[in-house]
Amino acid sequence: MRIGIDFDNTIAGYDGLFATLAEERGLFQQAPVGKRDLRDALRQRPEGELTWRRLQAEAYGGRMGDAELQDGVAQFIQLCRQSGVAVSIVSHKTRHANFASDGTDLRRAATNWMAAHGFFDATGLQLNRDDVHFEDTRAAKVAKIAQLNCRWFIDDLEEVFAEPGFPSFARAVLYDPHGADIAARDGARDGATASSDNLLRCRHWDEIGGHVFGPQQ
Ligand SMILES: [Mg+2]
Repeated sequence: MRIGIDFDNTIAGYDGLFATLAEERGLFQQAPVGKRDLRDALRQRPEGELTWRRLQAEAYGGRMGDAELQDGVAQFIQLCRQSGVAVSIVSHKTRHANFASDGTDLRRAATNWMAAHGFFDATGLQLNRDDVHFEDTRAAKVAKIAQLNCRWFIDDLEEVFAEPGFPSFARAVLYDPHGADIAARDGARDGATASSDNLLRCRHWDEIGGHVFGPQQ
């Protein structure tokens, strides 16, 4: 069995980095923490969309090294290793940012970040570089997920699962760390809830591990 995982905001977390970058640029004295809140606050300003895209280009580019490994990801991948489950990372990531690029190769920045976090170490997460796929479009991403025969796919963006071509045989897991309100609204005891026939919504990687492998001690 193979499990596919998105990269940005699913494996690599940018909440702290976005807040730091916004404060460094003097956009806020104290920036909202959380990508969505920060984006929404910026978009209310003149040229806010452009400002937001510039911040993204920096976060995914030159400052990628300051992104954080999402809590529980490493344990989940190790659980896959112990269970003989193959792991692929499938990311919609162009080589260069479309806006205000400083020329950084975004794919190389992500690969270097993974290397720095032990993704390719024999004593670490034991991925091969071939297990990492960067695609130019969302359509190409879901085609890759289908081609790899991923039985599960974990992503922070619900739109990926709705993209035409997303394979019906892949179980969709929405990684939604800020989704507490939704979980509370749906009355889910464990924070994960099926919001459609084939979508699991999880706030933490431990919950995802529980769904895939059963409860861990
Ligand atoms: Mg993502």
